[in-house]
Amino acid sequence: MSDRPFNFSAGPATLPEPVLRATQESVWDLAGSGIGVMEHSHRGKEFSAVLERAEGLCRELASVPDDYAVLFLQGGASLQFCMAPMNFLGADETADYINTGSWSKKAIKEAKKFGTVNVPGSSEDENFTYIPPASSLSFSPSAAYCHFTSNNTIFGTEFAEEPAPPSGAPLVCDASSDIFSRPIDVSKYGLIYAGAQKNLGPSGVAVVIVRKDLADKAPESLPTFLQYRTHIAGNSTFNTPNTFGIYVVSEVFAWIKEQGGLAAMGEHNKAKASPLYAYLDESEFFQGTARPDSRSLMNVTFRGPSEELEKQFIAEAAAKGLLGLKGHRSVGGMRASIYNAMPTAGVETLIEFMKAFERANK
Ligand SMILES: *Cc1c(COP(=O)(O)O)cnc(C)c1O
Repeated sequence: MSDRPFNFSAGPATLPEPVLRATQESVWDLAGSGIGVMEHSHRGKEFSAVLERAEGLCRELASVPDDYAVLFLQGGASLQFCMAPMNFLGADETADYINTGSWSKKAIKEAKKFGTVNVPGSSEDENFTYIPPASSLSFSPSAAYCHFTSNNTIFGTEFAEEPAPPSGAPLVCDASSDIFSRPIDVSKYGLIYAGAQKNLGPSGVAVVIVRKDLADKAPESLPTFLQYRTHIAGNSTFNTPNTFGIYVVSEVFAWIKEQGGLAAMGEHNKAKASPLYAYLDESEFFQGTARPDSRSLMNVTFRGPSEELEKQFIAEAAAKGLLGLKGHRSVGGMRASIYNAMPTAGVETLIEFMKAFERANK
């Protein structure tokens, strides 16, 4: 492992070494079955055991209540942008959508195709560098649900706690880039969805946790595949799911459990991100872009003194085995994605490199 580069890519992202090792083995021979995980029928007993383990560990890690279904779907988080309103938002209803970045905007765009969208708060006025404070949010009186993006992968901001609509509207959350990075109270939510490729596994699987009574209310006129109830009834095997992806997600869940679960993950992530932010605060060369009260523990966004020096920084870092530090094309600068699987040593190495680069170039 020590000779591997550190991968700061925003997603698909780095995976824990034990997960990669177990996957190598299972690609060849799944659990002594003689054939590999990608070669098993999605209805056979070997894959059924994988699926059961994935769901069981997910429920255990987040204490998912029994009235919620855990699904492993395809289409990424992006399909959830339209599936959520299709299932939960009537043409004559309103949903609240907090606008904290590019992914929120994409979710809003889709929801508008199905009903009315009210935006209780937005940070677009300052290029999404902050999370609108709870006191500033103007919720609608009877929203079908309240959607938020818990971590803004591109802008490096993260909700410290869930929005609390006074109407008691169920929360719908795009948790793609911070799911299972800290404890979560699932009972506050109607729907939690996440593309797996940031914190939970490879791309091609979306983890969806949905309250069953909400799924029951969806119009039967929707295409069968786009109704949550179809996948609940079919236990994520209505059609052939991403069997390989679900296997890897099950291994990531097992790894998180071994680390001590979500509370331990949360402590680990705080301890990992804080020296990097502390350095950004003291540096006169690099500058963090997110407001300190809104900083993400998953995606640390920062700028250098000039675009030229930023380019040089990214290239020199890559040559030293620190990969994927280029910021999203829509904002520029740098972004260090330090999800669950990024070891502390990766962040320490990055800080050392940043200090050396600052000394050499200021
Ligand atoms: C990456 C990401 C998405 C997009 O996920 P896909 O699986 O590519 O559809 C959506 N929302 C957030 C917050 C993300 O980080």
